Amino acid sequence: MAAQVHGFQTEVTKLLKLLANSLYSNKEIFLRELISNASDAVDKLRFLSIQDPLLTKDDPLFHIRVKADEAAGTLTISDNGIGMTLDEANEHLGTIAKSGTEEFFRNLSQDQAKASQLIGQFGVGFYSAFIVADRVTVVSRSAKAAANEAVRWTSDGNGTYESELTTKDTRGTDVILTLKDSEKGFLNEWTLRGIITKYSDHISTPVWLWEKETPADEKKEPTWKWVQVNDAKALWTLPPKDVKDEQYKEFYKHLTHDYDDPLTWAHNRVEGDLEYTSLLYIPKTAPWDLYNREQKNGLKLYVQRVFIMDNAEEFLPNYLRFVKGLVDTADLPLNVSREILQDSAVTRKLRRALTKRALTMIGKLAEDKTKYAEFWSQFGRVLKEGPVEDRTNQEEILKLLRFASTKSGTNAEDVSLTDYVARMPEKQKHIYYITAGSYEAAANSPYLETLKKKGIEVLLLWDRVDEWLMGNVEAFDGKTFISATAKDLDLGELEDKEEEKQKEESEKQHKGLVERLKKALGGKVQDVKVTARLVDSPACVVGAQDQMLTQQMRRMLEAAGQ
Ligand code: ADP
Ligand code: MG
Repeated sequence: MAAQVHGFQTEVTKLLKLLANSLYSNKEIFLRELISNASDAVDKLRFLSIQDPLLTKDDPLFHIRVKADEAAGTLTISDNGIGMTLDEANEHLGTIAKSGTEEFFRNLSQDQAKASQLIGQFGVGFYSAFIVADRVTVVSRSAKAAANEAVRWTSDGNGTYESELTTKDTRGTDVILTLKDSEKGFLNEWTLRGIITKYSDHISTPVWLWEKETPADEKKEPTWKWVQVNDAKALWTLPPKDVKDEQYKEFYKHLTHDYDDPLTWAHNRVEGDLEYTSLLYIPKTAPWDLYNREQKNGLKLYVQRVFIMDNAEEFLPNYLRFVKGLVDTADLPLNVSREILQDSAVTRKLRRALTKRALTMIGKLAEDKTKYAEFWSQFGRVLKEGPVEDRTNQEEILKLLRFASTKSGTNAEDVSLTDYVARMPEKQKHIYYITAGSYEAAANSPYLETLKKKGIEVLLLWDRVDEWLMGNVEAFDGKTFISATAKDLDLGELEDKEEEKQKEESEKQHKGLVERLKKALGGKVQDVKVTARLVDSPACVVGAQDQMLTQQMRRMLEAAGQ
């Protein structure tokens, strides 16, 4: 059969064009991506062979190999993992399967610097090979296929690729890069060793490098041999005290394909009733698709060190979807499926435990104000879904929220409810807040006048989720949340006796005016009342407290044509 020419999916072509310009300063990541793919391929086969040991019988030791050929100018990354059939190669190496890909490219700005940062987050995977190679050839044989059912795929990265059936003696994949003239430096043994050590230290499959050994007697020809570069121990199985920060960071990059360091992490090994190891990370920046519903989140699941699945969403609630990482447990069976996961008591226990771990990690991060501000700006809005979604941990999540307040006079969201409560005057029994369309609208709202005059701090909220959040939580630390826009603003003991008297008097005094206003406004309002809450403004509209219809909500309803 002759090789068939196929066009890349439009997005792939776009990606390839972008790559050339955007990752020039970080070219070596191609090796991380290819080793990472090899490691994934091995993990997949290791998993399949639990059910079907025959798959790996004739080649039982998994490996990844990197070999430079100076004469040919090629670099080859090989693995004996799951491999690909012709159809699989066409599907996986010609398209991008990620959801939201099209949208991603539509939104990609013209700003080169920004684009390159986004590209990093997006994860370029296999296609990063074209950063350094002007031809990439993949020869692969699926673990389930015969020697003559292998595939040869090749492309110069210019819009098309060719693929055809071929023969291959052993299962797995060889990725052969014909390096660009300018990138021949990647054939150097020391360069390779350096990069591989950095990127594969924590990979649980041995990575071997083809190295030259110069004999003591210089007249003799040098010999070549495979040398194992990493120690092939899964990082999370090591005791936390033996793992260096650099290793955690590299592992994070391997896990998430993020090019940036993580903001923080938590590594826990738990024995006893429930046995598990978890390694959780918080990224520095929110992924571009944090609000994309189709986007798969969740942890990597391992059972007794065997990789089982990606994106196991069962182990963390939705409001913690920005947490990356893995869980390895001995309490689930190796043949666990998504269906079994969904209604297993072990899953529920793990979810409870991991949710706590994640919240504790965020709590620890909060001790560092600068880092927490960074975190809050990226993920605060998602965390705000928490108190309503997860009633069990409501109090703990509320503690992690940050607000702007009338105290600071700026829009910086750095006040915690604990701070607020700590500085409440003794007579104050409630937590006062206001929601509005913007910081300015909240800070300058006439509803705040009395509270301001009395020196009561008010939390200022203007996120889209705030209205919903505040409408669905009752209290923190036993103190009720009260909207500053509520009709009978309950000031409790803060109410001034003198003011009460004045109010009664002015009520009598203005009875006529109130009657006239009621008539004029007719059915448009429920009631007209004299108030002592305004200081500078003559009048304001309020919602009844029990109606829960605050200003912001009313505006939303109006906008929706209600
Ligand atoms: P990702 O790894 O995020 O899925 P990549 O672009 O790195 O994206 O790889 C695309 C797909 O190509 C992989 O999901 C896998 O199906 C296939 N693939 C790549 N490299 C290998 C390999 N060494 N062995 C088997 N399949 C591979
Ligand atoms: Mg990949």
